[in-house]
Amino acid sequence: MKTYPVYLNGNWTITGDSIPVVNPADAEVFARMTVVDTVHVAQAIKDAHTAFGGWRHVTGKGRGEWLHKIATELERRREEIARIISVENGKPLTQSQGEVALAVDHLRWFAEEARRGYGRVVPQQAEEKRHLVVKTPLGVVAAISPWNFPLALAVRKVAPALAAGCTVILKPASQTPLTAVAFAECVDAVKPPNGLFQLVVGLAAEIGQEFLNNPLCRKITFTGSTEVGRKLIEGAARHIKPLALELGGHAPVLVFDDCDLDQAVKHAMIAKFRNTGQSCIAANRIYVQRTIYPDFVRAFVNQTKDLKMGSGLDPETQIGPLIDETAVARAIEHVQDAVSGGAKLLCGGNRGNGLGFFFEPTVLTDVARTALCMFEETFAPIAPITPFDTESEAIELANGSNYGLSAYVFTQELKRMFRLADVLEAGMIGINDGLPTTSQCPFGGVKQSGWGHELGSEGMEAFLETKHVSISID
Ligand code: NAP
Repeated sequence: MKTYPVYLNGNWTITGDSIPVVNPADAEVFARMTVVDTVHVAQAIKDAHTAFGGWRHVTGKGRGEWLHKIATELERRREEIARIISVENGKPLTQSQGEVALAVDHLRWFAEEARRGYGRVVPQQAEEKRHLVVKTPLGVVAAISPWNFPLALAVRKVAPALAAGCTVILKPASQTPLTAVAFAECVDAVKPPNGLFQLVVGLAAEIGQEFLNNPLCRKITFTGSTEVGRKLIEGAARHIKPLALELGGHAPVLVFDDCDLDQAVKHAMIAKFRNTGQSCIAANRIYVQRTIYPDFVRAFVNQTKDLKMGSGLDPETQIGPLIDETAVARAIEHVQDAVSGGAKLLCGGNRGNGLGFFFEPTVLTDVARTALCMFEETFAPIAPITPFDTESEAIELANGSNYGLSAYVFTQELKRMFRLADVLEAGMIGINDGLPTTSQCPFGGVKQSGWGHELGSEGMEAFLETKHVSISID
């Protein structure tokens, strides 16, 4: 069985230790991934710091050219890398292909943003002074990414950090390291300076601690659970380490009776079932105005029953496996808890046959507010649908969560769109749109969904220092 290497200071390295990589569609170990210890990580930070000394002086245009070359290499290998994503993550191949295309677009967006690290000239109060606001790169950045979008979520950290003039060490999720290896190969193929980009895999808590403690590591950008985000915040307090946090979500979907029902069902299906429900912006709670509740539920259930579940590599598949057995156990717990609280199970509700970590696409209706799935992230293809009567009730339900990552609204009334965009407590609001992510707009949460933004011009800003330069000309 092949053991894949980490990428340290321009070298592909295999240490004595490795972890298994599992295909969630059949629960089989199909590869092993090298792991490193904190000595390697400390050395990687030192090498990244050395590389920073040169990279920070490459012009924005020059840095952008490197990113374009990486994008071209990723594009060239898109089919092969999409298959790697489907094998280790489980998602349907068309969605993996979409993820590669999204990552290429992120690289190209930040390749162009690299030229735009603008400062400003500020009018002086004293005649003999001149004031400049300048932007300089932070230094060495540690990027910690999750398994659910193993390529796109890593690239939306690495690309802006490199564009800003920083150097980066990526620590991907242990469950999906091979996608990160493939990305590192794309970087390596363009022959970057040693230490510009490095890949480490290993015990997350120890690696995270080294990132927190090492003074040469200037920022940690993390995407993952709110629980781990909280641990990083605690650890960061000691060294006042800057953090960017993209954490959990619990998106509400509000469907009003003035919506285009076909469009609402189609987009709610995307928001719920994309990536088998394992998306931070997945629809977790679907609230439908009582007047159209039966019609919405009927159409949603019919379409859910038509979803084809199977291996991500089967081109017909729309619902792949969940990432692991723990995820299946949580799905079962959420369904049983909702049903015991009075919810009706209209379809699905069971684990799939076979060895993989499959769970059927499921619809629950009339789910109690207190059910687990109404406030904990389900991260599975389970759609709880429940009715509401008035707009103010819908807003109260939507905002009644500790999370605030995304929210969805279906309505045709323009005034309502603006009212809800103002008051919904979420970093991203999809209006008649179940898939609001795009490279050129900021992605981030409010409340316990995180700090800061990725993508958009905000995405590169996160890796720049702001300095005031005051010049006296007296
Ligand atoms: P997770 O358990 O928090 O893991 C995310 C990453 O953090 C992995 O690389 C993991 O490494 C690492 N990690 C675990 N413990 C750590 C520690 N003590 N210190 C430093 N790093 C540590 O999350 P997950 O289950 O992989 O991902 C699902 C979660 O991510 C969900 O809550 C989802 O909503 C959230 N998410 C948020 C966004 C967003 O943009 N807001 C996007 C996608 C996902 P190991 O794999 O080696 O344990």
